[in-house]
Amino acid sequence: MNKIFHQGLLLCVACQLAFSAQAETGSSAVECAKSAGFLVPPDAAGHLNYAPDREVTVLHLSLDVTPDFDHRSVAGKATLQFKPMVKPVQELKLDAVALSIASVTATVKIQAYQATADHLIITFAEPIPADQAASVTIAYHAEPETGLYFRTPKMGYREGDTHCFSQGEQIEARHWYPCFDSPNEKFTSEVTCRVPEGMTVISNGRLVEQAKDAATGLTAFHWSQEQPHANYLITLVAGYFKSLEGRHQAVPLAFLTPPSEFPEATNSFRQTEEIMAFFEREIGVPFPWAKYYQVCVNDFVAGGMENTSATTLTDATLFTDATENIINSEGLVAHEMAHQWFGDLVTCKDWSHIWLNEGFATYYQELFNGHKNGHDALLYDLYNSARHVTGIPNDTNSIVRRNFNAPSEMFGYLAYPKGAWVLHMLRSQLGEELYRRCIQTYLERHRYGNVTTEDLRAVVEELSGRSFDQFFDQWLYHAHYPELEVDYAWNELTKLAKVTIRQKQELSDQVMRFDFPLAIRFKGKFGTTDRVAEVKELAEDFYFPLASEPETVRLDPEYTLLAKTTFDLSDDMLSAQLADQTDVIGRLLALEQLANRQDAETVAKLKETLQRDSFYGVRVEAARALRSIHTGEALAALLDSAKQSDARVRLAVVAAVGGFFRESAGDCMRKVVADEKNPAIKAEAIRDLAAYEQPEIHQLLVNFLNSKSYREELAGAAISAIRAQDDPACIPPLLQALKQRQTDLPSRVFASGLETAGYLARNEDQKDNVREFLIAKVNDPKKLVQRSVFGALGTLGDPKAIPVLDTFAKAAKECPGQAAAEQAVAALRAGRKPVDDFKNLRSEVEELQKANRSLREELEDLKKQVESRKATTPTRKPRS
Ligand SMILES: [Zn+2]
Repeated sequence: MNKIFHQGLLLCVACQLAFSAQAETGSSAVECAKSAGFLVPPDAAGHLNYAPDREVTVLHLSLDVTPDFDHRSVAGKATLQFKPMVKPVQELKLDAVALSIASVTATVKIQAYQATADHLIITFAEPIPADQAASVTIAYHAEPETGLYFRTPKMGYREGDTHCFSQGEQIEARHWYPCFDSPNEKFTSEVTCRVPEGMTVISNGRLVEQAKDAATGLTAFHWSQEQPHANYLITLVAGYFKSLEGRHQAVPLAFLTPPSEFPEATNSFRQTEEIMAFFEREIGVPFPWAKYYQVCVNDFVAGGMENTSATTLTDATLFTDATENIINSEGLVAHEMAHQWFGDLVTCKDWSHIWLNEGFATYYQELFNGHKNGHDALLYDLYNSARHVTGIPNDTNSIVRRNFNAPSEMFGYLAYPKGAWVLHMLRSQLGEELYRRCIQTYLERHRYGNVTTEDLRAVVEELSGRSFDQFFDQWLYHAHYPELEVDYAWNELTKLAKVTIRQKQELSDQVMRFDFPLAIRFKGKFGTTDRVAEVKELAEDFYFPLASEPETVRLDPEYTLLAKTTFDLSDDMLSAQLADQTDVIGRLLALEQLANRQDAETVAKLKETLQRDSFYGVRVEAARALRSIHTGEALAALLDSAKQSDARVRLAVVAAVGGFFRESAGDCMRKVVADEKNPAIKAEAIRDLAAYEQPEIHQLLVNFLNSKSYREELAGAAISAIRAQDDPACIPPLLQALKQRQTDLPSRVFASGLETAGYLARNEDQKDNVREFLIAKVNDPKKLVQRSVFGALGTLGDPKAIPVLDTFAKAAKECPGQAAAEQAVAALRAGRKPVDDFKNLRSEVEELQKANRSLREELEDLKKQVESRKATTPTRKPRS
């Protein structure tokens, strides 16, 4: 899935991680709830995760469900066909969380069934022999808190847009139907869903039938997925939608949105056919499913989710023409579609190999960007992801690992951008043609099956005749990347260029010394000379004979190595590198060094680059470098460069000017707010005005609170600026706007308004207004809003809120918002200010971990006690 928003939007799904923007200009990170897992270090007790046993093989799953939109529940019947694999099976244990089981029937005699907190255990009267097919049918009812999500007017969503959607990855499907919820089980499936007239249903595979039932008045949509897939890829989206249709050869395409969002559908759908055509050529395997539909839903739990043949997308990917090229859906659409091969056709056997899904989807999304927008666009993507990866502190986990507490922890920078970089390095070492053959073979060999990292290595070794043990060991089974310190010297007498390469990464059990080929390109009067240094040691000198002293020395000119490199260039080399219009990475690296200088000559060079460079990304980085230099001349250079035809660069210039606090910068922001038509750029200027405290700015922010814009981007920017100003005088107009505009504001904007209200009033003597306003929303049916209310009450610091919060804090752990309420109560009881610093957050996480560990130990102990009572011989308790 995609957690990240591209170009200011969420880029990967369900992946709600730290979102790095695609090679885009400053993207706003969209925080996905699930990604919070990355804060938690691996289980200190050393628990490891493996794929579960498969006592039975599932042959087919049939679901027949009727959603109840009023009560946000679902009634269903699930039929599972299966057969024991090796041994006879008398007990079938299905994943099922909080399902009310009405009945269980089977093709064989059932002795009993038992619903526990998270399983349904069916005991048969006689063992079912190995290889003998049987089936069970479970009638059930569910009011799922997760796995199936409703969006209805009663909850505050628009009239006429009512819908529901499922989300399987990683392990949510068990909350709305009983299943084998692990990626190492693949089977065919069918979904029948009964909805009121006028609604539509999207699910996996092909539509077998759509028929109205005279008795109930409901229309049944019957979808069938005739190729095997993993349980987490089963999807159900039902409700009022409008659709655009298309076709790529024999594959029907569609793009659906809730009716009120349909005007923007074309913008996001536009590239779908081109992306599919590119992937079929690049991958060498035809699109593997019966159709490809993309459905936008309200407040999706991630950026996108690659269900087989029917991707779900966040509606936040929709955009208007006014945004020019700052926001588009290309990256998200490409990412999810790439998953249809990588993740869907072949699926990681367990979550420890999730990079085989996410690394591939990320890399093929980048390859499409390079195909569509030029090779420099691919390089800029790789440059941004390398900066992301090499900027992560304490990077000591390997991409493939088993020491995690929850699968969600695996959906982070290691699986996504670093996984993509590993594929890029593999492709660079194999060459494009051989790499393509390897990937095609890997997919064909394992189609509709499961894969592990070793399956990929085996194909690569077989087709290349080379050993890739070391490559996989250092990049996938060990952590980090080379941190290189490089020196260069020229000897005029011997005509030798000396390049010294030192690896400075801290070595440990997790981090190795790396072996890699490092290409070095010398340019000078002699032309261009390419050489390769085979780096194998922690410190090595390499000598290269050249006809004359080179003008530039470029390490890794084709950008094929993930590394953090320190290589200080002379002024002449920097100038030559910055001017080389054939070398986008060289120019970006030159900008990194120039950003640390403050002289007028450097500012002049950056200004020229900002105004004239051929690639937008270099112009964007030049603006950022000028901001970093932060002199009056640098600001003047930015102000002189504000006219930019490419909106991404214009945005970067405005953001860079916003990084100064000077009269001219403030004037520029005001002018942008008044004149700029592009809402993304205007929003940036509104946020940057926070630094200015004049009464007219206060009024301007209040006006924008009440302004209308697409997805209320400008009101959201005003809320951010008001929070940054931290002026309690803004509380009344903020509350007023929130009261009047709750139904207009997207959930995230409204939630940030609530949090801001609590924050602004935290030091006030009189907190009643804000407290009462927040308490009136504690039962908001939008979970995001409810959680932000609890957070805001904790931040507000008014102990009078404790009795109300307590009623939620003392509810069952599974209740939505319980943890947030408990945290708020703890904050209020401790009489401390809200947790808005990382130190507090970290200590809270540590406390929670401690509590979690001790609970787990107690639970293990209890289990052992229960088991030992059942057993005839005593069981051992492992030493902790
Ligand atoms: Zn993904």
